[in-house]
Amino acid sequence: MQKKKLALSTQIFIALVLAIIAGVAFTGNPVIATTYIKPFGTIFLNLIKWIVAPLVFFSIMVGVISMKDIRKLGMIGGRTVLYYLCTTAFAVTIGLIFANVFKGTFPVLQTSDLSYEANASVSFMDTLVSVFPNNFVKPFAESNMLQVIVASLIIGFAIILAGEKSGKSVDAVTAVNEICLKTMEMILRLSPIGVFCLLCPVVAENGPSIIGSLAKVLLVAYIAYFLHALVVYSASVRVLGKMSPVRFFKEMMPAIIFAFSSASSVGTLPMNMECTGRLGVPKDISSFVLPLGATVNMDGTAIYQGVCAVFIATCFGIDLTMSQMITIVLTATLASIGTAGVPGAGMVMLAMVLESVGLPVEGIALVAGVDRIFDMGRTTVNITGDAACCVVVSAKERLAKTN
Ligand code: ASP
Repeated sequence: MQKKKLALSTQIFIALVLAIIAGVAFTGNPVIATTYIKPFGTIFLNLIKWIVAPLVFFSIMVGVISMKDIRKLGMIGGRTVLYYLCTTAFAVTIGLIFANVFKGTFPVLQTSDLSYEANASVSFMDTLVSVFPNNFVKPFAESNMLQVIVASLIIGFAIILAGEKSGKSVDAVTAVNEICLKTMEMILRLSPIGVFCLLCPVVAENGPSIIGSLAKVLLVAYIAYFLHALVVYSASVRVLGKMSPVRFFKEMMPAIIFAFSSASSVGTLPMNMECTGRLGVPKDISSFVLPLGATVNMDGTAIYQGVCAVFIATCFGIDLTMSQMITIVLTATLASIGTAGVPGAGMVMLAMVLESVGLPVEGIALVAGVDRIFDMGRTTVNITGDAACCVVVSAKERLAKTN
């Protein structure tokens, strides 16, 4: 079993390398990659998106039922949200610091004829209202993870409160959850093919030349991504989670490669559950912490927003003041909560960050062309942060149990 799992992660790694080689070979003529290879990546991602909502729904429900304790759930929820908020605020700060240190090397691009249509901004109250479903099937149809989480928590509690009257529902929910897990496992076996088919067209379409003038901005974002993951996650799994960071990153590798190739936290969710399982995180914790993280915890997105805000300001010849930076930390933390775990969502939310400090929203057009490249890195950081939180919360739970 162990050997087979190891083989899958090696296969995924080989797929990554092959995708980059094939992608480079197709640059200049990406039609084959986009017409014949990309659709298989889309099929694979569609299958994952299809299973993710029922998987989250039933596994959270099983988690709630097995805890039988609303207080314990509140404790886990509280710790998770606190960890997520602190690391995200830290992430924007790192992004801002790096961008400010290196902004002298950023190119100053033409801003005269830019255009970008920002979505109408949504108020905090509207966001709050949107967390609660108004229809039983819509959260599933729209893969709205926050609504799926809320629905499964409510029904999970109802099963506990109904006690004996809920009949065999506990067995039924557990059985359906097992089926979902098996389905997910079957789909994940296709990951090497999926990773290849997702990544190859991206490399082919975005070949090295597209990076062009933005190379330095991308580099700064990637240095910040890398350092945040290395410093913050290593320190938290070591100090708070009592786990070797080397083991953490090694076991997380398949999910990391998957996130990099798919640029979707929600799509990486099943793989992340599998990897944290191998790290010893109990299912009742990962099934709550990870789906929540895939929707609200976006450290990589926050870093990207910090770096891009400074870059866009530089292009418009604006020097951000300290109070504007603090506003960016606050809004980017909130914006990353509101960012959906799908490709490109972080760029849409960048509008909110820019607006909060009066920067021109059309500046987004400056970075839009290479968004996918920013996105691959930020998604990788996003899901690694969710897993680190899982390790921390499960260590705290273990500690609480032994005391
Ligand atoms: N693609 C990112 C994710 O799924 C969200 C973003 O665009 O920043 O985590």
